[in-house]
Amino acid sequence: MSGFIAAALSPPKKSVAAIHSALARFFWGKSNASDRHHWAAWHKVARPVAGHGLGLINFGVQILAYSAKLWWRLLHCSNPWTKYVCQAYLTRRNPFLLQGCISSGWRRLVKFRVWLIHELEVRGEGPGRAWADSFVDGSSGPSRSELDRVLARFPYSLDLVEDFHVLQVWLRRCLDSAGHFSFATAYDTLCGLSLPEVHQQHDNTLVWHPRIPEKISIFMWRLFNNALPLPANLQKIHISLASKCPFCPEWDTLDHIFWQCPIINPT
Ligand SMILES: [Zn+2]
Repeated sequence: MSGFIAAALSPPKKSVAAIHSALARFFWGKSNASDRHHWAAWHKVARPVAGHGLGLINFGVQILAYSAKLWWRLLHCSNPWTKYVCQAYLTRRNPFLLQGCISSGWRRLVKFRVWLIHELEVRGEGPGRAWADSFVDGSSGPSRSELDRVLARFPYSLDLVEDFHVLQVWLRRCLDSAGHFSFATAYDTLCGLSLPEVHQQHDNTLVWHPRIPEKISIFMWRLFNNALPLPANLQKIHISLASKCPFCPEWDTLDHIFWQCPIINPT
């Protein structure tokens, strides 16, 4: 359901945040008609397993991935929609200026371009580097002839060469092994670009090993993300419990229970 919405619409950030809140409330559940405590931020939950998440779809990233797909279609496909967009916007003197009568589709493409270039610049992969890397033999960027083909379609927008080139280079990261645009690859790439980094030292492949029951995997995920209702965490939400280990005189912390208690874990 969220996939259809993300493909058709590009809701404002406020609406995306409200949808994320609703999904998080549903995920963590209710008790006695009130919401249960959310033990981990939604961006830690709704991210790929390879990125230390629970593998739930992130609605905000889904919207970005569909925007990337629209750019790919615009630059590589020829159909009535791409012809209309080229004619209506790319022949303008400054097509990226959101003024006058702008369709929601073009507004979405422009906003994605602005966001992408900003994120690449923050990571030191901005227009300058993409431009310099593009014509190096063996690089992953498009060839000169490929770029010429794109530019030939937009004869009135030569001042936008760099913008298109940055997009072309980046969209190359979203191709599958057969050279086709892959929504799944775009989604994974955009998760890395748009979600805050999560630093963890454990081996995620062991947590999600096929022979380990899913319930245990989720428990281990909560353990590594400090998302269990242990005394120290409960104190943060103003619930005080006895914080002494029931087996020894030490404090009942996460490290103590699972690794350090000499009675529970004598090895
Ligand atoms: Zn102990």
